[in-house]
Amino acid sequence: MYASRFTEAHQIYRKAVRDWCERVIVPNAEAFERDELTPREVFKQAGQLGFLGARFPEACGGSGGDFWYTVCWAEELARTGLAGTTMGLLVQSDMATPVIGEIGTQAQIDEFLKPALAGDRIASLGVTEPGAGSDVASIRTTARRDGDDYIIDGAKTYITNGTQADFITLAVRTDPNAVPSWAGISLVLFPTNTPGFSVGRKLKKLGNHSSDTAELHFDGCRIPRRYLLGEENHGFVYIMRNFQGERLVGALTAAAGARRVWERSLDYGREREAFGKPIIKFQVWKHHFVDMLTELDAGQALAYRSADLFDAYLRDPDNAPDPTREISQAKLYCAEMAQRVIDRCLQFHGGMGYMEEYFIARAWRDTRLISIGGGTSEIMREIISKLIGL
Ligand SMILES: Cc1cc2nc3c(=O)[nH]c(=O)nc-3n(C[C@H](O)[C@H](O)[C@H](O)COP(=O)(O)OP(=O)(O)OC[C@H]3O[C@@H](n4cnc5c(N)ncnc54)[C@H](O)[C@@H]3O)c2cc1C
Repeated sequence: MYASRFTEAHQIYRKAVRDWCERVIVPNAEAFERDELTPREVFKQAGQLGFLGARFPEACGGSGGDFWYTVCWAEELARTGLAGTTMGLLVQSDMATPVIGEIGTQAQIDEFLKPALAGDRIASLGVTEPGAGSDVASIRTTARRDGDDYIIDGAKTYITNGTQADFITLAVRTDPNAVPSWAGISLVLFPTNTPGFSVGRKLKKLGNHSSDTAELHFDGCRIPRRYLLGEENHGFVYIMRNFQGERLVGALTAAAGARRVWERSLDYGREREAFGKPIIKFQVWKHHFVDMLTELDAGQALAYRSADLFDAYLRDPDNAPDPTREISQAKLYCAEMAQRVIDRCLQFHGGMGYMEEYFIARAWRDTRLISIGGGTSEIMREIISKLIGL
């Protein structure tokens, strides 16, 4: 049913993204992984081709498309098998920037959002801290008012695009005495050329090597108060709303990435022989592949249902139903399903599956992130429990 949401224009866009991925990302995969970075030039090209802003209004520098363009963009990136680059680009298009389009002033849109969608300025989303990840309400990075400025002190960690970001959509504590504590959080736009800002360690990760992940430090950083996003002390609500898009692209990339691994594994199984026949001809593996396909289709259906609800929500936030439960279910299921599918596909490859030179080892490592980043599976279950009244 949701497949009908893809119009001819979406298909043309999808093909353009796929061609670009095959030309620019796939051949450079080893270099990006080795350098632990997706180069600035890739962001620039994605911006110039209109991929970063496809679903943003034209007034924000986008193309005015619906959320189904993001679905095409996220799925095609995931099919490259380069999860780090996928994540870096999706932080730029769907995690650090949508909130600017939704609540930013025209001056903020002109200064931050338009150059980000054009690929001229790289964006990060800075929420997680050394002492607060799942528990966003306990962040301690402060923004203290001083005349027409804020003075920012604190630290963030695990920040994607962190070593090369030009600005950060940053969660800060503007009221240290707020009760409850979530009521004292704000979002600001933070240019990384602000004196007192420094990038700490570039973090070594288990997977997603083609994205840079960093610790960030803020030491008496002065930014103008006009960089406040929306209203002061309303940041927690904005962050939770912003998480919905982030979690949904997480679900979409998990499902699409795992499907690609399933397809490539099937090809392998038709070629590789044991006991005189292709290994896919063993009944046990045929059944595994059927089970995996069923799980993949179930995950995609959950993600598409969420995309449909989210698209309606973006068009009319005041009247559309809240998509939080469905998005949390899609994120929870797709993340864990992708891990099951890719683990089984690795087993299907035998010793080859354990070799660095073969794609499946990377996919297996990379997919471990999805049930952690952007809200863990445990947090998804907590959210869903609350929403169904448990
Ligand atoms: C590669 C990578 C990239 C990232 N990129 C970004 C980024 O760009 N920007 C950003 O802000 N953050 C980013 N993150 C951070 C990510 O969102 C957090 O790691 C995640 O939200 C979990 O927080 P934590 O690591 O502090 O774990 P913790 O909150 O310390 O959780 C530890 C464990 O406790 C469990 N737990 C916590 N609370 C509960 C509860 N109430 N009930 C049951 N179990 C619970 C968790 O599920 C988890 O298993 C990134 C992380 C990684 C690994």
